[in-house]
Amino acid sequence: MSAFNEVKVFVRIRPTAQFAHELIEYSPDEQTVNVRLSKKSKTAVLNNQMSSWCFRLSGVLHNLSQEEFYQQVAHSVVLGALEGYNGTVMCFGQTGAGKTFTMTGASESYKQRGIIPRAIQDVFHEIDTRVDYSFSVHLSFLEIYNETLVDLLASVKGGQTKHCGTLSVVEEPEGAVSVKGLSLHPVHSEEEALNLLFEGEMNKIIGAHALNKNSSRSHCIFTIHIESRSHARSNAAYVTSKLNLVDLAGSERLSKTGSEGQVQRETLYINRSLSFLEQAILALADRRREHVPFRQSKLTHALKDSLGGNCNTVLVANIFGEAAQIEETLSTLRFAARMKCV
Ligand code: ADP
Ligand code: MG
Repeated sequence: MSAFNEVKVFVRIRPTAQFAHELIEYSPDEQTVNVRLSKKSKTAVLNNQMSSWCFRLSGVLHNLSQEEFYQQVAHSVVLGALEGYNGTVMCFGQTGAGKTFTMTGASESYKQRGIIPRAIQDVFHEIDTRVDYSFSVHLSFLEIYNETLVDLLASVKGGQTKHCGTLSVVEEPEGAVSVKGLSLHPVHSEEEALNLLFEGEMNKIIGAHALNKNSSRSHCIFTIHIESRSHARSNAAYVTSKLNLVDLAGSERLSKTGSEGQVQRETLYINRSLSFLEQAILALADRRREHVPFRQSKLTHALKDSLGGNCNTVLVANIFGEAAQIEETLSTLRFAARMKCV
């Protein structure tokens, strides 16, 4: 086992004509974001005596194309997965800040494809070049809504499901985890994989309509399962890895979402699972801690074998650059900086 891999935390600012230069400054080289509140905007951030913050991160990525963003943030994690290392790329931030744009992209334009379709392309491209190995690739697509697990590819034929019934996270020998009941779909080409991604996205929308829920209030984990074997030795063992591409639920706080009924319930579930995610990542970084609290939420439990340690973990904090969103932006940056400190 290699040393602990540092968790990388990038900030992506959604492009806007109203970028608040007077409030938010960033220096891509120094990897810091400064937020300064003017007297007027200060009154908006209640209970806070501070008026200036400096957040240190792995990088601030603004005005990058989807391709440039992919290369800087996700490409190395994909290569790691092909070498047998589990990896996770995860977007968080308030609704509308660009998480889905970053992960999936804008479907109307090829150039605007996000991390998932690019990772799929990358995986199949790399497999083609590695002629000394045989690979097999499977996909799964899991949604977590109010701590309930949903298989977004359940209706797609050809999947392999070991168990039926309610989905649950189960621990396997040697620290691995799997989701019991989640269908795994074999894919042999980029096109097959993209079709499944599309089906899963459709099922997410259909499911949200049917249950009258807001689809930006769930966590979605798209996983590329990779198995490889070297041809060099006839008895070579299979190497397996997972690449998790995660679009987290909108992190806006209760004061913003409204505090009644379904919305309140969703917000409480989301806030709790994000707080458990933070606790797990902080505990992972603290080498004196033997116990990492993974089982506190479905999200951390499902990602137990793909965070920290031997895995490559990249977090993307999506923020607005506008003054009107500064409170949520501060909250997202605080979360990001705490994770970066590990
Ligand atoms: P979220 O998933 O965080 O709720 P979305 O990804 O749906 O937010 O983004 C909201 C809107 O902003 C979408 O129309 C999206 O296409 C657009 N958008 C977000 N980030 C960018 C970006 N970096 N460049 C161009 N458009 C973006
Ligand atoms: Mg979204």
